[in-house]
Amino acid sequence: KKPVIAIDGYSSTGKSSISKIIAQKLGIVHLDTGALYRGITWFALQNCLDDHDNIDLQLLFSSFSMIELEFKNVESELVLYLNHINISKEIRTNEVSENVSLIAKQKEVRDFLLESQRNLAEKGGIIMDGRDIGTVVLPNADFKFFLTASIDERSKRRYHELISLGIEADLQQVKDNLIARDRIDSEREIAPLRKADDATVINNTDLTKKETIEMILSYVKN
Ligand code: C5P
Repeated sequence: KKPVIAIDGYSSTGKSSISKIIAQKLGIVHLDTGALYRGITWFALQNCLDDHDNIDLQLLFSSFSMIELEFKNVESELVLYLNHINISKEIRTNEVSENVSLIAKQKEVRDFLLESQRNLAEKGGIIMDGRDIGTVVLPNADFKFFLTASIDERSKRRYHELISLGIEADLQQVKDNLIARDRIDSEREIAPLRKADDATVINNTDLTKKETIEMILSYVKN
């Protein structure tokens, strides 16, 4: 049976881009679970605003029955389609980044997304990255890693990622958003951002993407 791999860690430690390459090398699939929380946030911003343009959480929770999540395998990547729309680009905007952690801390939202994530891992052969994969979603994963890096290095990486996607970015604003999200993600009551007891920690501040990938593969292959 092909392995189930859980990758958790702080924002912009390279979890997703690293996981995607590992999936291709091992012939398994990759799911970026952050995209699910971002997708729900995007939906809420489109459909569930109150009179003051704030997200109406009760309205969002009562709209879950109208949200259909599908995943299409594109070069080992499980791409999310929400109500048949590919929202890969929309979910990277600042507006989504600024609201996603407040949506992700809601129990109703986490419950809604849990089953899809577990179902995708049932047959094995998947690498999933997020904040609670090793602790909550896939506690029995074959391999677990927890990625960290300095805040300055992470801010630079996210900044360059946004620019390369054609999204306007400001380095200080990116840094503030990472700090705010990591704090909300770590302090929330349900499924907080945590290293699983049996996860291997990798601090990749001074590692290239390639070096981080090789380090993870050295554990998975042994
Ligand atoms: O991975 P990414 O930075 O795109 O995740 C966006 C947000 O989604 C995180 O800041 C966190 O609030 C939420 N998230 C989560 N649990 C996961 C993955 C992401 O709460 N497994």
